[in-house]
Amino acid sequence: MTEKISLAKETKQILQENGIILNKNLGQNYLIDDFKRKKIIEYAKLTKEDTVLEIGPGIGTLTIELAKKAGKVIAIEQDTAIFNILKKRLEKEKIDNVNLINGDAVKVDFPEFNKIVSNLPYQISSPISFKFLKHDFDLAILMYQKEFADRMNGKVGTKQYSRLSAMLYFKANIKFLTKVSPESFIPSPKVDSSVVELKPKENQIADDDFKIYSKVVKALFQHRNKKARNALIDSRHIIGFKDKKELKSILNNLEDENPRIKELLLERTINLSPESIMELSILLKEHIN
Ligand code: SAH
Repeated sequence: MTEKISLAKETKQILQENGIILNKNLGQNYLIDDFKRKKIIEYAKLTKEDTVLEIGPGIGTLTIELAKKAGKVIAIEQDTAIFNILKKRLEKEKIDNVNLINGDAVKVDFPEFNKIVSNLPYQISSPISFKFLKHDFDLAILMYQKEFADRMNGKVGTKQYSRLSAMLYFKANIKFLTKVSPESFIPSPKVDSSVVELKPKENQIADDDFKIYSKVVKALFQHRNKKARNALIDSRHIIGFKDKKELKSILNNLEDENPRIKELLLERTINLSPESIMELSILLKEHIN
């Protein structure tokens, strides 16, 4: 019978019956577009072998469909009132392969999983994505605010090229899948959304090198339009320097020794590819802490 009610109507009904007013500060924009829901589930190519992690299940719009297709679902919801609604809903529908956790997904330890499917709470996009990438998994299908998704995949020299793009570059392959407009949610957010596929890269950079790279990236992107040399000098505290003169003299010496360093330091941040930033990081390695 419930098949006949539209997802929008069903969602409004559940929220109303439980006296819930959605909280924008918790990124509560609930999906009411059945077509987009189907697409998201399809992209995940689920089998009963899969254990899916879902962050922010809300009232279960994706969760219930995921549970039908996957072997197991782990769903982490922070809002206790919403968590209780979903718990009852799963019991009522006799769905018993969902491990529902009430907590902050940024802080909770993740149980084992091999796929991630989530319409994410947008305010935690950055920390949760980096947390995902500390784990080994096959595939993630994730909905983000469109601007964020664009920056994740930003190409060198473009407006979207950012600290986020450079940080993700060595960690994951990111593919844009589909745009989702504000009317597909209640309440409607002010921004467009994008669904993206994220797959961890096979060959990961050594931890030590990535640590240095992260610092150099952070320092450089505080001054995206400056020449790398000036960006590093201005953000010297990030790479462990207090004294401007000291860093300048180190850079001068390195430039004299190695023309490639000189070339890299003369480029503006936005024109330095992740590979070039990595090259620069390794060349500066012994001086950075
Ligand atoms: N997946 C649902 C809901 C998306 S809204 C749907 O598509 O309709 C995002 C959900 O994440 C909300 O239910 C919100 O309460 C929850 N949430 C917000 N911050 C969270 C956090 N830090 N950890 C876990 N859940 C969070």
